[in-house]
Amino acid sequence: MKVLVLGGGPGGLYAAILLRKVHPEWSVELIERNPSDATYGWGIVFSDRTLASFREADATSYREIVDRFVLWEVIEVRHLGEAIRCGGNVFAGMSRKVLLDVLQRRARELGVVLTFRTELGDPSRLEAYDLCIAADGANSFVRRSFASTFRPRVQLGRSKYAWFGTDQLFDAFTFIFRATEHGLFQAHVYPHIGAVATMVIECAESTWHAAGLDEASEAENVAFCERVFREDLGGHRILANKSDWLSFPTIRNRSWRHGRLVLLGDAAHTAHFSVGSGTKLAMEDAIALASAFGRHAVDVERALDEYELERRPVVEALQQAALESQEVFENSARYAHFSAPALAFHLLTRSSRISYDELRRRDSSFIDRIDSEFFDAHDERARPPGTRRLAPPPAFAPLRLRRLELANRVVLAPAPADGGRGLRGEAASAALVRSALGGAGLMLTEIFAVSPEGRITPDCSGIYRAETAAGLRRLAELVHEQTDTKLGVQIGHAGRRGSMRPRREGLDRPLEGGAAWPLLSASAIAYAPGHPLPSEMTRAAMDRVRDDFVRAARTVDRAGADLLQLHAAQGYLLWSFLSPVSNRRTDSWGGSLERRAAFPLEVVVAVREVWPDTKPLSVVLSASDWLDDGLGPDDVVAIARMLHDRGCDLAHVITGIVQFEGCPRYDAYASTLHSDRVRNESGIATLVAVRSATTDEINGILAAGRGDLCLLPPQPSEAGGFDPHTIVVEGGA
Ligand SMILES: Cc1cc2nc3c(=O)[nH]c(=O)nc-3n(C[C@H](O)[C@H](O)[C@H](O)COP(=O)(O)OP(=O)(O)OC[C@H]3O[C@@H](n4cnc5c(N)ncnc54)[C@H](O)[C@@H]3O)c2cc1C
Repeated sequence: MKVLVLGGGPGGLYAAILLRKVHPEWSVELIERNPSDATYGWGIVFSDRTLASFREADATSYREIVDRFVLWEVIEVRHLGEAIRCGGNVFAGMSRKVLLDVLQRRARELGVVLTFRTELGDPSRLEAYDLCIAADGANSFVRRSFASTFRPRVQLGRSKYAWFGTDQLFDAFTFIFRATEHGLFQAHVYPHIGAVATMVIECAESTWHAAGLDEASEAENVAFCERVFREDLGGHRILANKSDWLSFPTIRNRSWRHGRLVLLGDAAHTAHFSVGSGTKLAMEDAIALASAFGRHAVDVERALDEYELERRPVVEALQQAALESQEVFENSARYAHFSAPALAFHLLTRSSRISYDELRRRDSSFIDRIDSEFFDAHDERARPPGTRRLAPPPAFAPLRLRRLELANRVVLAPAPADGGRGLRGEAASAALVRSALGGAGLMLTEIFAVSPEGRITPDCSGIYRAETAAGLRRLAELVHEQTDTKLGVQIGHAGRRGSMRPRREGLDRPLEGGAAWPLLSASAIAYAPGHPLPSEMTRAAMDRVRDDFVRAARTVDRAGADLLQLHAAQGYLLWSFLSPVSNRRTDSWGGSLERRAAFPLEVVVAVREVWPDTKPLSVVLSASDWLDDGLGPDDVVAIARMLHDRGCDLAHVITGIVQFEGCPRYDAYASTLHSDRVRNESGIATLVAVRSATTDEINGILAAGRGDLCLLPPQPSEAGGFDPHTIVVEGGA
C-alpha cells in the first residue's frame, strides 16, 4: 500500500508514525511545504496532561512529549487592576517546534519518507497513491480542490486575533483584559518553554480598525500591543513571527472523505483556540485512523468509514463547547463591568464543561471568594474592613428588586394541578401553597388572561373574573401566612395564538365552531396555515386591551401579589407587535423596531403607573423569532433596554416556539446564553429557566452573571408523571 500524507503538522506526522507502526510493510511518504526547522507558531496547550491515548498509541513519542511539558495549574485573570487566581486546573504546554521535532525524529526512525519545502499544488498527483491523508491544515488545499464532495462550511469569528510570544515570565495560564481608548484588548498568555510564553492577543474587529491595526506593519503591531500590555510585560518584549491578525475559522465538513482521500486535523475541523484542543484533536484523529487501518488493512473504504464514525461525534461535541467559549471571548466587552473574580468565574465556566461544584473541588478558596463577593453585592449591611463573611452559595443569596426582598434565587412556576384550569377551588390553592412550602424565593402563577378573548384555551383562568380574583387573594394570604415565599402573578393576552383547544388535545390546535372566539393581532395574519384570521387591531381595540392590562394589574395588586409579570413572548399579542413577521402595519405601530414596540411599551407604561412603585414588574420575552427575517437576539436586547428604561425590573427570556414557521434552538444551554446576553447588554435583571434542579447549575448561572433568578423545571413525581409540588429547596443562609 502506497500512502501519501500531505502536511507535516502534528496531525500529519502522527498519522504517518502510527500507520508505519500498524503496517510496517506500507510505504508512507509525507510532503510538507515548509522547511523541517520552520519556527512558525508558538506554544500549544494540552488541557489533559495524561494523554493516555498517546501513551497507548506510541510510548516512545509519548515519553519525549511529556518530558518536555511545562505544567501549570493556576489560571489567573487580570481585570480592572486586580489579579485573581484559581488553582487546580492542570494544563501542559510545549513549544510547537519542539513537538514537531519529536514527531519528525520518530517518523524518520520508523521509515516514513519526509519531504520538506515541497508544496503540492496539483490534485492529480494524489492519484498515484492508494491512500491520501490530507492533514494540510485549516486552509487545506485538498479540501478546496474537492469541495463538492467534502462540502465544507467555514464560520468566521467576529474578533481579530494574532499569535505572538513574549519573553516575560508567566507562572500561570493568564487572561488579561485591558481597556484602551479604542476598545477592550485581551491576551491569552501561557508559558510553553522556560523563557518564552505564548501570547494570543484578541480584540473586537471594530476596535482593531479604530486602533489602526488593519494598516499597521508587524513592528507597529508589536509596539502597539506592548503599550497596551505594558503593565503585564514589566519591560519585556512581545515577539512576532508571521503574527498576522486573523478571524478564527470554525471549519466543518459534511463528509471527511472522497474515495481514497481523507481529511484529518484542522483540514477536517477546527475548534476555537481558547479551548486549546486543536493539536490534541488532530493527533487523536491520527490514532483513530491508524487503529481503523489496524482492523481493516486493505479495506480502505471500511477503515475510512469507521474513522469518521468514531471521530465525528467527539469533534462535534468539542466544537460546540469551543463555540460557547469563543462567544464569551468575542463579547468580552459585555462583561467589562464585572469584577475580576466574577469575570474569572464566568471565563472558567464559559463552555459548560466546568461547573461551580467542580471549581470548588479544584480550589475552594476561590469559590469562597466568589460566594462572599456575590452575597456582599446583595447585602446592604456594612462589614468592618478586613473581615470575611461565611457566605452561602449564590442560590441562597437574597435578591432585592425595588422593595421586594426574595430570600433566595430559586423560582417555581407550578403548572395548575388540574391540567390548566387555574385557581378553581381550595384544592388548587392548597397545592400551590404546598409548592411554596418547599422554600423557593418566588413562586410564579400560571398566565391569567386579561380578557375573555385574551385566553389561550378555554381552560385558561381569566383575571377579569371575580372568582379568579378572589382565589388569587386567598392564595396570596395563604402563601404569605404559611411561607416566606413571595408570589408573582403572570398576566397576558394570547392574541392570534388564542382560541386554541386545551393543551391536552395538542399544541396550537384551533377551537372549532361555536366554541371559538374572535382573535386580535398586530396585523391580520393567521398564526399558521388554516388557522383563523385575527383582526388587525384598531386604535380603539388597543385602548381596550391596554385598559384590560391595567385593570388586571390593579386586581393583582389588590390581591396582595408581590410581583407582576407581563407575558410579551411566544407569539402572543404583545409579541405579535414586536415581531416583523406578525406586524406588517404601515401606521405608527409598524415599521421600525421602535414603532413596533410602541404599543407593547404603551401597555407597560400604563401598567407601571398603577402597579405600585415598591413592587417589581417583570416581562417575559422570547429569545428570538428563530426565523431569518424575524426578530433576532440583538432586537431582544434592544427591547429589554426599552423595557428597563420604562420601569421593568426583570426579564424572563425564554426559548421555544414563537412563530409557526420558526425553528427554536432547544438545546439545554440556549436559554442561559440568551439570558446572559440580555442581562449584560441591557442592564435588566433576568430570570432563567434551568435544565436540572441542581444547586450546582443554579450557582453556576448566578455566579457567572448569566441570570439573577433561576426557574426550576417541574419535578418527576413518584407516580412517574410530573408533579410540580414536590420540590424542596434545602440549605440557605
Ligand atoms: C492562535 C492559535 C493558537 C492555537 N493554540 C493551540 C493550543 O494552545 N493548543 C492546541 O492544541 N492547538 C492550538 N492551536 C491549533 C493548532 O495549531 C492546530 O489545531 C494544529 O496545529 C492542527 O494540526 P494539523 O496537523 O491538523 O494542522 P497544521 O498544524 O496546520 O499543519 C498543516 C501543515 O500542512 C502544511 N501544508 C498546507 N498545505 C500544504 C500543501 N499544499 N503542500 C504541502 N504542505 C502543506 C502546512 O505548512 C502545515 O505545516 C492554535 C491555533 C491557533 C491559530
